[in-house]
Amino acid sequence: MLKKNFDEVKRRIQAACQGCGRNEDEITLVAVSKTKPVETLLEAYNLGARIFGENKVQELVDKASLLPTDIRWHMIGHLQTNKVKYIVGKAKLIHSVDTLRLAEAIDKEALKKGIIADILAEVNVSGEENKFGLSVGEVPAFMERMQRFPHLRVKGLMTVAPYTKKPEENRQYFRRLRQLAVDIGRKKADNVKMDILSMGMTGDYQIAIEEGATMLRVGTALFGERDYA
Ligand SMILES: *Cc1c(COP(=O)(O)O)cnc(C)c1O
Repeated sequence: MLKKNFDEVKRRIQAACQGCGRNEDEITLVAVSKTKPVETLLEAYNLGARIFGENKVQELVDKASLLPTDIRWHMIGHLQTNKVKYIVGKAKLIHSVDTLRLAEAIDKEALKKGIIADILAEVNVSGEENKFGLSVGEVPAFMERMQRFPHLRVKGLMTVAPYTKKPEENRQYFRRLRQLAVDIGRKKADNVKMDILSMGMTGDYQIAIEEGATMLRVGTALFGERDYA
């Protein structure tokens, strides 16, 4: 079943790219494996998946210790400052940086470990109250502060669009995030690059591709429904 799902998502990514004249090499697929057992991840690994997304620090660290070391782990969920020490150096990319305090903690931990931590700034483009993320208006000032944190590198922006049965409704948010990235990119701050736009999930990744996504975070379409029980 996993192979069928992976093939289908790949096919849809190809079709979406063709439909809007993009090259599929521009798109990185993050296989969102949260709640799924390591055996399932290993099956995905054997199908060629090398980038897995998790939303809990403990789960990411535990799975990483049990699976092949060439997997790149992405932290996509809300991150608490007190857990930063466990994730810096473990996650190849942290998608969910949404406060200066968190950025500062990551910078400090990266210094301690002698590395540069790659991050994305999470933006709550839709303005939903129950969502994490910087507001669109906060992003420019946030980026200006990043030069104070030489041990991190901002690689782009991330957003979680609203859950909807009509993916077309999310096009406006993806477009807004892209525009924001273009605006920030023009300012050319020291450790800020806008190479990555992490947007698009199971319900709306084709629309996200059309609006310029370079990184998709897909869980359900690859691994099936999650059981949180
Ligand atoms: C769970 C999750 C996803 C994947 O969601 P699906 O709808 O299952 O594809 C993507 N991004 C984030 C931040 C998530 O928490």
